[in-house]
Amino acid sequence: MIFRQLFEPVSSTYTYLLASRIGGEALIIDPVFEKVDRYIQLLEELDLQLVKAVDTHTHADHVTALGALRDLTRCVTVMGERSKVDVISMRVREGDKVAIEGVKLEVLETPGHTDDSYSFLLPDRVFTGDTLLIRGSGRTDFQNGNPYDSYESIFNKLLKLPEETLIYPAHDYKGDTVSTIGEEKAHNPRLQVGSAQEYVDIMNNLNLPNPKQMDVAVPANLRIGYKNADPVIQKGTLGTFEAQERLGEPGVVFVDLREDFERQRDGIIAGSAHAPYNALGDSSRPGGLLHTLAGEPGKTVVLYCAHGERSALALKALNDTGFTGILHLGGGLKAWRDDGGPVVPASG
Ligand code: FE
Repeated sequence: MIFRQLFEPVSSTYTYLLASRIGGEALIIDPVFEKVDRYIQLLEELDLQLVKAVDTHTHADHVTALGALRDLTRCVTVMGERSKVDVISMRVREGDKVAIEGVKLEVLETPGHTDDSYSFLLPDRVFTGDTLLIRGSGRTDFQNGNPYDSYESIFNKLLKLPEETLIYPAHDYKGDTVSTIGEEKAHNPRLQVGSAQEYVDIMNNLNLPNPKQMDVAVPANLRIGYKNADPVIQKGTLGTFEAQERLGEPGVVFVDLREDFERQRDGIIAGSAHAPYNALGDSSRPGGLLHTLAGEPGKTVVLYCAHGERSALALKALNDTGFTGILHLGGGLKAWRDDGGPVVPASG
């Protein structure tokens, strides 16, 4: 596996780049806005294609690079379903898998530092965000943090992992880079407690100043959704009610861009075809599903995804390669469902 731990010194943030091979797909965890040029350069140097960008939680101490990386690479942005961020391409929950070619991260819900904190697990390592730090743990005094939840997440979830599991946190202020579950169990001063209440008392008496960039970072990080200012996307956006009217019309075909696990988890629009966003290139080439559908006279293709971000990006990409007249469902299946649109279970 290709694995890089990158550092941003102003907020002492660690960012992780993962890929299974040179020339393959890559995923980035907790990227920082100021470092976007460096990530893009490194991706080019390693000949990697960024396909997913993940934030472990809504950060208060730095501006996320999720939006910038999506705009530059059309990667899928990923956060937990409890995040209050305006639009994220893919929302995940406990047990879901965030997958790229050759790498599969299991999602663990680990609230406490914030109510939208998640950890991401590989067989030998776990990315803990700010839930569990090296010889510390993430503060719980803002962003709906809760020290009891933090205790639960750490003691009843993360510390149950095998002792040799490597811990890669989102921050370190002393220069430590990696630890293990066993090491933190034995030597993390906050974990040497006899009860949840004892841990809570420690967390409630830290008396930390707010992060310097907090007033800028939190609002910025809550508004990262794709800005559909592009005229091609504006023209091609179908509202949910209009889309419901078009469903079942002759010649209108809905195409689901989501991944299998999202289809199984959340259902599909009846009769829709499936062309996953990560294989857009293949399906829009001759012989591919989108190429075939878009090329049929009298056919109208309506792309949809979870929240309308991947479908907007796909619409733009397809338009750039010469497919015109394609539509996408604004707000995705979430908006469709909220407005009473019917959803059926995905088969198989
Ligand atoms: Fe944090």
